[in-house]
Amino acid sequence: IEQTAYRNDKLAMLGKISASIAHEIRNPLTAIRGFIQLLRPHLVKLGKDEYARIILMEIDRANDIIYEFLNSSKPSAPQTTVIAVSSLLKEVVLLTESEALMKGCEVVLHDEAKPLHISVDVKQIKQVILNIIKNAMDAIEELGPEHEGIIEIRTRADQNSVNIQISDNGKGMDHNTLTRLFDPFFTTKESGTGLGLSVSYRIIKNHRGYISVDSKCGYGTQFIISLPTVEAQEG
Ligand code: ADP
Repeated sequence: IEQTAYRNDKLAMLGKISASIAHEIRNPLTAIRGFIQLLRPHLVKLGKDEYARIILMEIDRANDIIYEFLNSSKPSAPQTTVIAVSSLLKEVVLLTESEALMKGCEVVLHDEAKPLHISVDVKQIKQVILNIIKNAMDAIEELGPEHEGIIEIRTRADQNSVNIQISDNGKGMDHNTLTRLFDPFFTTKESGTGLGLSVSYRIIKNHRGYISVDSKCGYGTQFIISLPTVEAQEG
């Protein structure tokens, strides 16, 4: 319990710090954008309009990233919609297909026995599942191109809730990683942020669900996300 309290404090602090950093980065970006637009006619005269176009495009991209990040890090109440678990999962799996193909691993979505519905912020829950699948792909990739990677997604109905299991046959985790993976900024990857799972943890918690993990070094990892289910609403 103490560890959880510590983690929540750290997460709340992370949310505040990241929101203010994001705002501080936005202001100079807005200034840069404005001055580039003023310079644009001069660049056109020099035949370098392409430079201005690229600068503006990249500034807009940076702004989009900050916007996404602010959205995912602010601890706001979720915007809920009722959705079938299977259709949410199908949409996420579709998003992972090209990367899976590139990394030579298979993502298998098993049909659920009976249709289940959840009332969730669809964007946020998709982000959580996407994070977990991407981590699974990374863990598979570490075992080299010869390794036949497989990621399986199963749903199981529980009393008033659904368990979404995501398992991979990637490299697995050692004890240290297993105890720290939900900590903000904890990463074992060269270019990792260590934010994916800490944000996911908070999103699931905001949905009154829970997320758990089981892993064995050299064998693979299984994440379970549990979310409360609701009665299906027709129309
Ligand atoms: P990042 O992916 O940027 O490192 P995350 O918070 O998503 O940040 O993950 C934290 C760490 O948890 C990863 O660096 C990795 O060591 C570990 N991890 C997460 N998922 C898996 C997995 N499926 N298999 C092995 N290790 C994992």
